[in-house]
Amino acid sequence: MAPNLPLADMPRPIQARIHIEAMRHNLQRLKAHAPDSRVWAVVKANAYGHGIEQAFEGFRAADGFACLNLEEAQRLRELGWRGPILLLEGCFEPRDLEWCSRLGLWHVVHHDAQIDALSAHKTQVPHHVFLKMNSGMNRLGFAPERYRAAWSRLNALPQVDEISHMTHFSDADGERGIAHQVATFAKHSADLPGERSLSNSAATLRHANAAGVAADWVRPGIGLYGASPDHPIHQASDWGLLPTMSLQSELIALQSLKAGDTVGYGSSFVAPHEMAIGIAAGGYADGLMRSGSNRAPVLVAGVRTHMVGRVSMDMCAVDLRPLHAAGVNPAVGLEVTFWGQADNAAVLPIDEVAQACDTIAYELMCGVTPRVPKVAA
Ligand SMILES: *Cc1c(COP(=O)(O)O)cnc(C)c1O
Repeated sequence: MAPNLPLADMPRPIQARIHIEAMRHNLQRLKAHAPDSRVWAVVKANAYGHGIEQAFEGFRAADGFACLNLEEAQRLRELGWRGPILLLEGCFEPRDLEWCSRLGLWHVVHHDAQIDALSAHKTQVPHHVFLKMNSGMNRLGFAPERYRAAWSRLNALPQVDEISHMTHFSDADGERGIAHQVATFAKHSADLPGERSLSNSAATLRHANAAGVAADWVRPGIGLYGASPDHPIHQASDWGLLPTMSLQSELIALQSLKAGDTVGYGSSFVAPHEMAIGIAAGGYADGLMRSGSNRAPVLVAGVRTHMVGRVSMDMCAVDLRPLHAAGVNPAVGLEVTFWGQADNAAVLPIDEVAQACDTIAYELMCGVTPRVPKVAA
């Protein structure tokens, strides 16, 4: 007979704790760097893995929400958001326009087929669109020489009542910078009426005072979630940003190794001497990176250590030697923090974990899998 317990009371210990107060704090930090701009809180990819509900709670003080798909936009409306919502890639199919009309969404227009679709769309209320220029990233947007023609086409449509201008930077976090793209954008849009939006998190934090960058709207994403857009040049703490996600679990087993014993698949870790390791409930099926095998930092009971052996689907092993020095006795049930903040307030920046895994914080946040509960904290 199955015990008469609700399944939800018996989860694996892993969870992603989402820090709503930290989200509010980070939004204020970003606002402080762009005091004259309105802020789109970018909540694409399920709010960078944090969950739309949590993001809505944390970023209510934003001026608008920018997302990618209609489900996210619809969820925001259901949660009661009546302000602006921007679809960052616009409509993927003509019928999406129907949803834009119903939900009152603003949408990006980045290629001709989207203008064709608009011209055939029947709507009571004309749309607010953001015309996108490809100023050098070569991902989305009209070529600079074709931008004005696209604007004129849109401007002639009864389905459109407001046309804003946007572009996106490829190197706001790096050496190449943004000046060349700012110049291109200005040259080909300067005399066109309408609001402007240029900056992601990196540009908002690093280039707020550069010529031509001040705009009506900024579009921060990663900074709102407490990671540094230009790690390792700056740490999140250098920007005054706080972690918004703590991926936490527990030790579910201990092993005592003798010299020469190995750990995990492929025996990629060999104990140099007698030592204790812990087995944590967390693997690549939860969103840990296999590339962090044998090196990703981790906190156990708030004490910094690292992974040993390969990360497997549901588990990983951690070196418990640093616990002795910190006066913590190894035990099943000890808290494990894969990134974020431990209960003793120690912080393991997600940027450091990402670096050890040869990736960026964005990928770690977005990679937390649906089986990991997201709990507002
Ligand atoms: C994702 C995205 C952003 C936010 O970028 P961050 O680097 O996370 O700040 C801004 N604008 C556009 C068009 C985006 O796609």
